[in-house]
Amino acid sequence: MIYFIGAGPGAADLITVRGMRLLQKAALVIYTGSLVNPELLDYCTPDCKKLNSASMTLEEVIGALRERGRDEILVRLHTGDPSLYGAIREQMDALDLMGLDYEIVPGVSSMNAAAAVLKAELTPPSVSQTVIISRMAGRTAVPEKENIPALASHGASMVLFLSAGMLEKLCEELISGGYAPDTPAAVVYKATWPDEEIVRAALADLPGKAGHIRKTALILVGNFLNGGYERSRLYDPTFTHGFREAKT
Ligand code: SAH
Repeated sequence: MIYFIGAGPGAADLITVRGMRLLQKAALVIYTGSLVNPELLDYCTPDCKKLNSASMTLEEVIGALRERGRDEILVRLHTGDPSLYGAIREQMDALDLMGLDYEIVPGVSSMNAAAAVLKAELTPPSVSQTVIISRMAGRTAVPEKENIPALASHGASMVLFLSAGMLEKLCEELISGGYAPDTPAAVVYKATWPDEEIVRAALADLPGKAGHIRKTALILVGNFLNGGYERSRLYDPTFTHGFREAKT
């Protein structure tokens, strides 16, 4: 069986228990070497074969999986959660074509890790109930309707992947789309790794303060990053819901 496993954002204990148990039994692990913490490979047995996918093509990854026994546990280890910018669709399609079955084990995305290290709630009531996850267009195209100013026009909480190298242009586009220049923003570099770095600034000042960070970082923007919000109804004593009567 083949498993696509989310490795989590960095810290080796932020993989799921299920993911760790599969690594402990794996005969082969193909890991995204540029972003997966190598400490995770310590969960594997000494005779587990480990391949770094950084230097492999899609065909080589699929070939390495195909040549192994059907009764072995084979792992494709992706950073964060595999469903976000993981390029797993093309791998699953290739496996489908060959009639090879697979399962996905979700992981803690770097988005969740960044919110955690910022001690932030992405969806505080009355501030924003929407999270927009996107990226700047780079060598990978982004559909035109999803251009940054269009997304910024909602004023929602926003998390940007794969864009730290274009911070200045990104912040310009976020502001031209409608965020006030003083909207709180942050760059989180290598969330949960030992060399993690957090830079908080008003959106207009972010490129000046975080310009030295060029990769492995998320940009977060929105009023969720400052203090103001309304209390949630869920825990409000005067609010009745399925599990609790209002207290008067
Ligand atoms: N599937 C991954 C994202 C892979 S794309 C996930 O769910 O997190 C790679 C991008 O993710 C990087 O360019 C960076 O923007 C972000 N990223 C990955 N790990 C990160 C971390 N520990 N801290 C901050 N950003 C990270």
